[in-house]
Amino acid sequence: MVLISGPSGAGKSTVVRRLLEDPRVVFSISATTRARREGEVDGRDYFFLSPEEFGARRARGEFLEHAEVHGHMYGTLTAQMDDALASGHIFLLEIDVQGANQIRAQRIPGLSIFIVPPDGEELRRRLVGRGTDLPEVVERRLAKAEDEDRERVKYDHVVINDDLERVLEEVRGLIGLGPLGEVSA
Ligand code: 5GP
Repeated sequence: MVLISGPSGAGKSTVVRRLLEDPRVVFSISATTRARREGEVDGRDYFFLSPEEFGARRARGEFLEHAEVHGHMYGTLTAQMDDALASGHIFLLEIDVQGANQIRAQRIPGLSIFIVPPDGEELRRRLVGRGTDLPEVVERRLAKAEDEDRERVKYDHVVINDDLERVLEEVRGLIGLGPLGEVSA
């Protein structure tokens, strides 16, 4: 199990997408109650659920962890992890710091990585530049990023996202995948 967290705008999703080019890695598709963004696919990026459906699945104990992030519910489905690990894959989770704490409390063996942008201004620029969020949403995300900064010490590794290819090489090394291009089936 490999757990990746970090402030929004740190470029986690891009790193995760590239890591998934390796057939040994499978992504933990989370459930969420937030609205689907343009380009996102239900069942690939997230399982988009109504608050009622999310609550029902939580009541049935289907989540390994769940948390409220930016006013919406997010959760990791236990079945996803069981399937991935049973088939010998690396199970890659991109979840927030609250979820990471819940997983740590369960003593699930694995590795945790915290990805940070080079500096705070860069984070603001990326969030605004993305153009998908209202200004008050950007402010809320920046405030959360400051809280998350205090959590980074709990992770096995902190990686600064200064250059995508360099970061990928570093993260692949940490996970034990070796450099890109040397993937064997
Ligand atoms: P976004 O809405 O931008 O896709 O994700 C917002 C935040 O929710 C990110 O910090 C992401 O890591 C976190 N997140 C996504 N899925 C989960 C999940 O299953 N559990 C938890 N705790 N956080 C999640």
